[in-house]
Amino acid sequence: MSSAVLDATQLIDSPLLPVVGQDLAAPLIHGGHVRYANLDYAASAPAIKDVAAHLNEVLPFYASVHRGAGFASQVSTSVYENARKIVAGFVGARPDDTVIFTRNTTDSLNLLAGCVESILQQRGFTEGRSNVHGEVLYLDIEHHANLLPWQALPHRSVVGADSIAATLDRVETALRAGNVLLVAVTGASNVTGEVLPVAELTALAHRYGARIVLDAAQLAPHRRIDLTATGIDYLAFSGHKLYAPFGAGVLVGRPDWLDAGHPHLAGGGAVKDVRLESISWTTGPARHEGGTPNVLGAATLAKATSVLAALNADDWHQHEQQLRAHLVAGLNELEGVTVHSLFSDADTYPDCGSIGVVNFSVTGYDAGLVAAYLSAEHGVGVRDGKFCAHPLLNRLGLPAGSLRASFGVGSQLEDAQRLVAGIQTLLQEGL
Ligand code: PLP
Repeated sequence: MSSAVLDATQLIDSPLLPVVGQDLAAPLIHGGHVRYANLDYAASAPAIKDVAAHLNEVLPFYASVHRGAGFASQVSTSVYENARKIVAGFVGARPDDTVIFTRNTTDSLNLLAGCVESILQQRGFTEGRSNVHGEVLYLDIEHHANLLPWQALPHRSVVGADSIAATLDRVETALRAGNVLLVAVTGASNVTGEVLPVAELTALAHRYGARIVLDAAQLAPHRRIDLTATGIDYLAFSGHKLYAPFGAGVLVGRPDWLDAGHPHLAGGGAVKDVRLESISWTTGPARHEGGTPNVLGAATLAKATSVLAALNADDWHQHEQQLRAHLVAGLNELEGVTVHSLFSDADTYPDCGSIGVVNFSVTGYDAGLVAAYLSAEHGVGVRDGKFCAHPLLNRLGLPAGSLRASFGVGSQLEDAQRLVAGIQTLLQEGL
């Protein structure tokens, strides 16, 4: 399959790039310019045209929400609250789940970590004290956004994730000790794209009285997630990886911890009553959304979820699997290229597999130089570095980083072909 799930007419156009290479792997469009082959969807995905159009629909009603009686304010408030309902539907939220709009996944996970910290304080768990159900458990493959907020808490345990079976065993062993309050895991690795056994991890957490939060920054743009069906307690993701503009993310989940946590942003809207000597905080999403919220961010994020929800899931899945398989096969044929993966036993877990991400290195070449070469000579955009997952890259023996190519709904087979041909040319001609 070469065509994208959403074709070029449905996505904001890829820019044309001036490229310096004489021996381009892709046909030139005109005079030294080539269509940008965006293989960096995992960082931020280009906006869908319907999402951009929705932004323009909402813009005329630019007014503060929850505060004004004027018509524009009423429309703005209803756009914002409707966005909450759309997002709740997209993730199959339970009727009493709270949907909080944040800045991004990082913000969402920090918000939840703040609530966990409040709960630990309320329950009297402090540094050094025995901590029955006061520990947060996470994996060593996490993006820093799902690692640093937990690392700052007093009680935690980290589990190495080098095979799915071993990960599940180690998580169960840690849970069996009876201390774990929360399991914090990524839905899919942002480094290799491999999908975690979310259903099994959720069942394990619940069996031992813990809750689970899923960092779905990578999973949500590729797979459907249903909180009601899976029982996942909390879910975080970002709009900018989901074909919406930067600046909005969500945290969805069970209300009790969120209502018990110290407000994430103390300020207007987060309170019921304020005296100079005392504050009564409100509950629900407003408790954590102090100040004027990002209405346009919420509205466009919700619009993007509606577009994705309308896609045929099989086509969507098949499209990225075909591109990924093509790229992996092409890279594996090149001597000196290594494709990296985490789980040797992934084949035995059919629900896991991989999203459209491929991580690789070229022996003898610095990843940053390869990425710069692909951009300048072939008009291919990939990410290089340590992907905000330093513990994992170090464990994989890649302290200097590697390269990551990632696909999305607008990706084309030609993008993968151009990347393989670019690396082939590099290996033949050098930098
Ligand atoms: N979690 C994962 C798995 C990610 O890939 C990312 C971003 O790359 C994040 C969290 C952080 O997302 P954001 O930068 O939107 O907060």
